Amino acid sequence: MNNPLLQAKNIIKTYNEDKIRTNVLKGVNIDIYSNELTAIVGKSGSGKSTLLHILGTLDKADSGEIFYKGEELLKLSDKKKAVFRNIHLGFVYQFHHLLSDFSALENVMMPMLIAGINKNEAKKKALELLEKVSLSEKANSRPSELSGGQRQRVAIARALANSPELILADEPTGNLDEKNALMVFSLFEKLVKEDKIAVVIVTHDNSLSEKCDRVYTMKDGIINE
Ligand code: ADP
Ligand code: MG
Repeated sequence: MNNPLLQAKNIIKTYNEDKIRTNVLKGVNIDIYSNELTAIVGKSGSGKSTLLHILGTLDKADSGEIFYKGEELLKLSDKKKAVFRNIHLGFVYQFHHLLSDFSALENVMMPMLIAGINKNEAKKKALELLEKVSLSEKANSRPSELSGGQRQRVAIARALANSPELILADEPTGNLDEKNALMVFSLFEKLVKEDKIAVVIVTHDNSLSEKCDRVYTMKDGIINE
C-alpha cells in the first residue's frame, strides 16, 4: 500500500456570519493518492468547495492537520503556503477565469511568466500544453472565440503550467454539455494515467464519479469513501 500524497485529518471548519454558525466540516478525513482520479460528491451546500479550498491551502481550517508527502501544511506561514501552491498545485474551477484580453497561449504562459520563467521557454511549454489538451490550432484565439469546453481545456492547460503534482478541480464540468464534459473528464483521466498527476474532481455527475478510482461523499459535515 503506497502512502497518500495528501492526507487531511479531522478538519473542522465553522463559518460565523450574521451571528449564524454553520458547522460545515465536522471532522473530515480524506486521503488523496498519486496516480488516482479522486471524486468528491455531495449535495449543494454540503461543504465540497470549502474542503477543496482548505486542502489547497487557499482557506484556513479551524483545526485539523493536512500532510503533503508527510509535511504538515497548516503550520506553514502564508508566504510558504503560496510558494507550496505555486510549486505543487493546479486549480480548475467551474468558470474558467481566463483573462479575456489575452490569447489562449498567453493565458497558459501567464503562470510561468509570474514564476520567472523566460518568455521563450514559457511559450514553448505553453504550446506543448495546448497540444496536450488538443487545442494547438486555437493558440492565438481569445477566450471569447472559444467554446465553453475549449475554454475549460485552456484553463486545464494553464493549471498544468508549473507542472503540478496535484490538481484540484471544483465542478470543472458543471457548466458544460455532456459531450464537452466527457472531453474534459477524459483529459483528467489522461493526466492521471500518463503523467501520474493526482486529480481531485468535485462533481454532481454520477456517470463521471463512477469512473473515478476513489469516490468520497460529503454528508452532514463528514466524508465517507
Ligand atoms: P458546496 O461546494 O458543497 O456546495 P460550500 O463549501 O460552498 O458547499 O458551502 C458549504 C456551506 O458553507 C454552505 O452552507 C454555505 O452557505 C456556507 N458557506 C460557504 N462559504 C461561506 C462563507 N464565506 N461565509 C459563510 N458561509 C459560507
Ligand atoms: Mg461548491
